[in-house]
Amino acid sequence: MRQLQHFIGGKATRGAATRDGEIFDPNSGQVQARVCLGGVDDINAAVEAAKKAQPEWAATNPQRRARVMFKFKELLEANMDELAALLSSEHGKVIADSKGDVQRGLEVIEFACGIPHLLKGEYTEGAGPGIDIYAMRQPLGVVAGITPFNFPAMIPMWMFGIAIACGNAFILKPSEKDPSVPVRLAELMLEAGAPDGILNVVHGDKEAVDAILTHEDIKAVSFVGSSDIAHYVYQTGTANGKRVQAMGGAKNHGIIMPDADMDQVIADFSGSAYGSAGERCMALPVAVPIGKDTADEFVGRMQEEVGKLTVGISTDPEAHYGPVVSAAHRQKIEDYIEMGVKEGADLLVDGRGLSLQGNEDGFFIGPSLFDNVKPDMQSYQEEIFGPVLQVVRADSLEEAARLPSEHQYGNGAAIFTRNGLAARQFAQKVNVGMVGINVPIPVPVAYHTFGGWKRSAFGDTNQHGPEGIKFYTKVKTVTQRWPDGDVADQSFIIPTMQ
Ligand code: NAD
Repeated sequence: MRQLQHFIGGKATRGAATRDGEIFDPNSGQVQARVCLGGVDDINAAVEAAKKAQPEWAATNPQRRARVMFKFKELLEANMDELAALLSSEHGKVIADSKGDVQRGLEVIEFACGIPHLLKGEYTEGAGPGIDIYAMRQPLGVVAGITPFNFPAMIPMWMFGIAIACGNAFILKPSEKDPSVPVRLAELMLEAGAPDGILNVVHGDKEAVDAILTHEDIKAVSFVGSSDIAHYVYQTGTANGKRVQAMGGAKNHGIIMPDADMDQVIADFSGSAYGSAGERCMALPVAVPIGKDTADEFVGRMQEEVGKLTVGISTDPEAHYGPVVSAAHRQKIEDYIEMGVKEGADLLVDGRGLSLQGNEDGFFIGPSLFDNVKPDMQSYQEEIFGPVLQVVRADSLEEAARLPSEHQYGNGAAIFTRNGLAARQFAQKVNVGMVGINVPIPVPVAYHTFGGWKRSAFGDTNQHGPEGIKFYTKVKTVTQRWPDGDVADQSFIIPTMQ
């Protein structure tokens, strides 16, 4: 059986790992490979490799670092089919979604190719007599990223793409559920010209995470995953003196105004609530139609639409979505459906108990649709992270907008309308980090930044874009004086004094 190893100092190694995790094929439900699970010794080894490589990499001029990123982008394109197939085989998302996963990461690499421009500092000429001030951004040194299972290509690239372009060395601790693509990315970075030790991958679970959070030579940690762990990572990392950004869970709402284009709305919810089996932090699992007529039309048409969805193995080009990542995750989703029923919501379509012929042991679950979900229900308040759409009816835009604003999560929200003023006001007021106007999954492009509010993100810096550059660098400001003439004849004047 295939055994996946760490990637430290440019080499595959088992290191000091004494435990192994199982990598499933969610289509068949069978174990397809094993992955070693590291701890303190492996993190120490990765930090040593990173520390050895980083000073020279930081001293490499930014154009040369950019060339490595350009080459890496080419390699991603050349290997797209292989990466997508590997990703689908461990995650379960369909091939088109896996390509999207790689593509959205690739776009961050494209952004990172602009690093010579992005790292340009600030300059003030003549801040005092003979005094100029300049500010530069310098890399932090060794930094780390801890990533979730649901975007095993994109999210690592959000992090290491920017960090490495800025001159840091990186340690990636990917999800132990689908860790093969992150290792392939590290191999491709090496092929692209990144020196040994600049991108290390250490597999593991809490033990490896804790080793990262307490290692004194790791200066910053970026985390993406569920909220309780994000909060833990934020608290532990900052208590250990690190810069931390920790993105958490989500429950995004889509508000449907009576004037919305209902054809578009139905197509958008079909993709954003059920695509990738709902395992996206920017999925749209809550629909809030305004007024009885809008709600009745939406629910009726959505029910029909759900009936047309095809669930299949991840290589099936006809499948709308594939299996979820694990049997435990499917059970969790089914438990939430049961909870919703017990809480009194109307289960119009029940996706539980789906068995796919020939793949009876795969982790499949059909699409579910709930109507008349109420804000005080636990199944509404928590993240389900599966192919389940919950309809919460509202009587006014004000009432509808309060739902995402008051929810514990604040990743994204969308509004569907033809009314520009209503959309504008909604975007201004809603208490979440990312807003879509007739856009169901408003994931910002790479040169903007990605980040939610409330329990969807801890820390104050977003992922990628200009905020990513800020996160992985520190500012140094130099005040220099080159007096004209004899220094002894000139008194030093601090600019603010005169
Ligand atoms: P998860 O929290 O279980 O795991 C994330 C990472 O934390 C993994 O690398 C895992 O090994 C590690 N981890 C797990 N348990 C740990 C523990 N007890 N202590 C320390 N580390 C631990 O998340 P997941 O199931 O892999 O991913 C799904 C979650 O990620 C969902 O909640 C989803 O909303 C969220 N997510 C958020 C964003 C965002 O940007 N806000 C993006 C993608 C996914």
